[in-house]
Amino acid sequence: MKILIVDDSRTIRAALEGMVTRLGHAPISAGSGGEAIERFVHERPDLALLDVTMPDLDGYAVARKLRDLSGGDWLPIIFLSASDEDQDLDRAITAGGDDYLVKPVSQVVLGAKIRAMQRIDAMHRNLARLSADLEAANQALARLSREDGLTRLANRRRFDEHLAVELMRSARTGQPLSLALCDVDHFKGYNDRYGHAQGDECLRQVAQVLRRECRRPTDLAARYGGEEFALVLPDTPLWGAAEVAERVRRGVHAQAIPHAASSAAQVVTLSMGVACAEPRSQTTAERLIEWADKALYRAKETGRNRIVAASSG
Ligand code: GH3
Ligand code: MG
Ligand code: MG
Repeated sequence: MKILIVDDSRTIRAALEGMVTRLGHAPISAGSGGEAIERFVHERPDLALLDVTMPDLDGYAVARKLRDLSGGDWLPIIFLSASDEDQDLDRAITAGGDDYLVKPVSQVVLGAKIRAMQRIDAMHRNLARLSADLEAANQALARLSREDGLTRLANRRRFDEHLAVELMRSARTGQPLSLALCDVDHFKGYNDRYGHAQGDECLRQVAQVLRRECRRPTDLAARYGGEEFALVLPDTPLWGAAEVAERVRRGVHAQAIPHAASSAAQVVTLSMGVACAEPRSQTTAERLIEWADKALYRAKETGRNRIVAASSG
């Protein structure tokens, strides 16, 4: 440990430096309160041994200043005083000291007190690490609860929340809100032919295209169900949503993932249904999803690998 020794007596400083060194620590010496603060700032010691009576700043004032400067980190402070009065000990602890020794101090006592402070310091650090870990785990959990594990897109819960919020916002701002539902064509056949693991990989690749094409900060790409995805597109009219959907459809087609079991193409394709909640139409999330789903059904019926836009209502 780096141990700050603060005492206006050169003789006492020298004695303490010798003990600290023999105990296996590194001494940093200061002959006044002002110097102690300066050395603390530059060298960040792990423990301070503070004389109480000094000509400029006394030990109490130095302790308060060191506490301020250490911020959230705990600095063990041991007072060394010539007085064995109870009142002086009480004042020292109140000023921020962790322990109080009466001079002269033996090397054995000093060593034991330093070890006790080290033990408390280790517990402090452990606790700080644990709470940092806990904070990180909580954040990860919060993220996981809103994310789909396979594709890393928003999950159904986050989709529901986002759609509800954006519908309310649309009602207030008078801007249209569009929704696109996407479904992988003949995906059951894909799984049967290439295996479930390859099916999962295919869904990840489709998700990449959706993520890429959702360009505005308020757009949201979500995994809606097994092989179904959804795009929430705020401030977007039906024709705009159809454009985004077409970019996604072409993007997935361009990935050229072989799909020999599809009647729609020789590669993996998407069918999509797009619907729009017109401003002030008081459309609910359920209605909007229903329209998009009906449009998706028509896209399937009319040959797949295509987009059908629903007319609202
Ligand atoms: P359609 O073109 O009409 O959409 O045909 P389809 O075969 O895609 O439709 P269907 O809804 O009958 O089949 C969807 C299949 O998607 C069923 C299931 O085996 C598969 N599936 C759903 N979720 C997952 C998943 O997470 N991973 C994999 N590999 N397959 C999934
Ligand atoms: Mg499906
Ligand atoms: Mg499907």
